[in-house]
Amino acid sequence: MLTTRARLNHDQVVTWLRRTDEVQLADLWRTADQVRQQHVGGEVHLRGLIELSNYCIRLCAYCGLRAPNQNVTRYRMSADEVLHCARQAVAFGYGTVVLQSGEDPGLKGDWMADLIRRIKVETPLAVTLSLGERSDEEFALWREAGADRYLLRFETSNRQLYDRIHPPRPGTESDRVAILRRLRELGYEVGSGVMIGIPGQTYDDLARDIALFGELDLDMIGVGPFLVHPDTPLGDPAFRPLVPDDDQVPSNELMTYKVIALARLMCPRANIPATTALATINKRNGRELGLVRGANVVMPNLTPPKYRVLYEIYPNKACIRETADGCFSCLEARIVSLGRDVGAGRGDSPNWQRRRDDPAGHSERNNVLGDRRE
Ligand code: SAM
Ligand code: SF4
Repeated sequence: MLTTRARLNHDQVVTWLRRTDEVQLADLWRTADQVRQQHVGGEVHLRGLIELSNYCIRLCAYCGLRAPNQNVTRYRMSADEVLHCARQAVAFGYGTVVLQSGEDPGLKGDWMADLIRRIKVETPLAVTLSLGERSDEEFALWREAGADRYLLRFETSNRQLYDRIHPPRPGTESDRVAILRRLRELGYEVGSGVMIGIPGQTYDDLARDIALFGELDLDMIGVGPFLVHPDTPLGDPAFRPLVPDDDQVPSNELMTYKVIALARLMCPRANIPATTALATINKRNGRELGLVRGANVVMPNLTPPKYRVLYEIYPNKACIRETADGCFSCLEARIVSLGRDVGAGRGDSPNWQRRRDDPAGHSERNNVLGDRRE
């Protein structure tokens, strides 16, 4: 039986990832839920998501927003439109807005800094950015302007697979792990994560991803199933890297819950959302199940519906036709149905708070899993 102080090694993590027995898995769900309660409490924090641009210069093999996809009508929101969404976030009682976009050089560094400043002056919101790989100067500028957090998934810790599905821009290297370390030095609350069931991703890879969450001492962890977009290279079976069937991680709901639960054991004080991708594969109660298996955050969408339909990273995304009001009421009801409370305030990650309040004392690692193989 797992305990809340369980220390799992690499092979044990792989064993959990391969398990399908419901009685055994109930033990994992229960432990992850207890660790969540102990370290981040019962509140569920709401982050208002604003998808501010779907322009993107990258060639990610998985994502519908990739530059060469001609079937996307591109948009970039104005600063006033973003501000309007931020005011809605305040009205709904959210503590955070997440500004997410494709990797869009049209979002100039100074323009973003100005937008962040306006949000910080006009509202009490925490500002999370998820704008892809940008320059060190821009990360520093946005932090000075008041940005609190940055999300950048490393997608997979398997370097070969990463290079295949996330090619670098010509003449550059894409090293998201190095960027995450720089963001941390700049004082950001740092979030990362992976897609689950990427073609070519093995159980060993996924166990190493979970170990890397701990090594990076992440403040936020976002994971979701890989979902096929037909207008991408991974939509073409001929492109998909092949691994033996028995090694390939499935991109399904159960695997997503297992990764959420193991991420909670690995990083007890991190904020972990029940993601939109999870809600997409189980629209009925995917979010709720995520929330009772380790997650403590949800991200209601604030993007105006006319833009929301164009931010199609994968097809049939959950909540694509809802209004901001609709998303808020629906998610609030789901949280209350679990007997949990909607979080008040900014909902900073307790892991980051500890680092801020006691930088020297933070040498004690976040993770409770240990004895990794590598
Ligand atoms: N452009 C920024 C970046 O790549 O970090 C932020 C936006 S990007 C759409 C956010 C995340 O969407 C990516 O990190 C990736 O994990 C996820 N994503 C993209 N395509 C996906 C797909 N087909 N299935 C599941 N998740 C996907
Ligand atoms: Fe662009 Fe991000 Fe999609 Fe890659 S995942 S194509 S960087 S929006």
